[in-house]
Amino acid sequence: MNDSILVINCGSSSLKFAILANAGQETLVEGIADRLGTDESNITFKFEGTKNTLTLEDGSHKNAVTHIKEWLNERPSIEQTLVGIGHRVVHGGETFGTSVLINQEVLDGIKECAQFAPLHNPAHAKGIEVAFELFPGLPQAAVFDTAFHQTLAPEQYLYPIPMHFYREHHFRKYGFHGTSYRYISQRLAQIVPGSDQQGVLVAHLGNGASTCAINKGQSSDTSMGITPLEGLMMGTRSGSLDPSLLSFISQAENISADAALDILNKKSGLLGVSEISNDCRTLEDAMMSGDQRAKLALDMFAARTAKHLASVATTLDSIDHLVFTGGIGENSGYLRQSICDHLKALNIRIDSNKNEQAPRGETLNIHSENSGTDVWIIPTNEELMIALDTISLIKH
Ligand code: ADP
Repeated sequence: MNDSILVINCGSSSLKFAILANAGQETLVEGIADRLGTDESNITFKFEGTKNTLTLEDGSHKNAVTHIKEWLNERPSIEQTLVGIGHRVVHGGETFGTSVLINQEVLDGIKECAQFAPLHNPAHAKGIEVAFELFPGLPQAAVFDTAFHQTLAPEQYLYPIPMHFYREHHFRKYGFHGTSYRYISQRLAQIVPGSDQQGVLVAHLGNGASTCAINKGQSSDTSMGITPLEGLMMGTRSGSLDPSLLSFISQAENISADAALDILNKKSGLLGVSEISNDCRTLEDAMMSGDQRAKLALDMFAARTAKHLASVATTLDSIDHLVFTGGIGENSGYLRQSICDHLKALNIRIDSNKNEQAPRGETLNIHSENSGTDVWIIPTNEELMIALDTISLIKH
């Protein structure tokens, strides 16, 4: 075992972590500290096939990282291999176009980008500060969700609003899920050498969902915008709609614009339409039992995903591959079929049997013989990407 990396994804009320060894190939331990900031917080370690949950004394982020450090102290054979820490950071703004080693200037930059990710970036900064305090001397890297999309051309990333909003406030499309898209692009190039010189469409479909067009290995357009609210219908987010609705909702409910925005972020999407759940699996079960609201929500999700795939495809020279990834993309045969049924005009067709029988967690080609585009299921692996970036930054 060598070159282990501690990967940290620090949110405002949770902290996910994993330790990857041997160039990211082996996950030694993973876990989550939950309900941080409350007196019910705990931390769970998944190690060697068992789960162990401990109560956190004061529910702080520092307490969570202290437990990870203690866990390592008890296992010196793992601790000795630790060479760095990689942090997932949601927003890198226009400042960060690649992953970077963290110093004070980078930490300040992450804090400055918090204007567009007020829940995420301050939590990431806190996680970084705590990790520096508890693991002094260990190099740390930041890997940004937005970085992969810094290759978009101005006609794709600018909003058609007065230009001074961009000049003075940096209001523009940033896009997210970039670490996942970069992984998918590289993984596809391993499976199909040369695909990094072709046109690739990717649908990252999870609770948060987006699409991306990758032209010759670079992001050329993506559906999410200045925040992760734009684009696809998601678990609880509405995705794109007529912005006038914001004002109509706030007038109808007699609430502020921020409260109306909260409805679009937290009470819309699959949850809002189905009035049952934001969870795709729950909705598929409900649909199978005949629930029409669940079916409508899923069918809207499929239609809107197809629309945003077609939209970002306008930046490609050719559509050679379509990749499904994320919890829904990897597991929902119903939605993959339904999305592809909307894309026949783009000559995208899948083999229904291969699609339905796809084994969980595996990379698979599911296109039919008469499809003009290869269609893939590829499980994403953002932790691996973060670990590899961290190792590469440490070694150069
Ligand atoms: P995120 O990382 O954005 O929180 P995930 O990528 O973990 O989300 O995806 C979560 C979604 O994947 C949920 O809606 C869940 O229901 C869905 N999902 C997971 N497994 C299945 C399955 N077997 N069939 C259908 N949907 C699934």
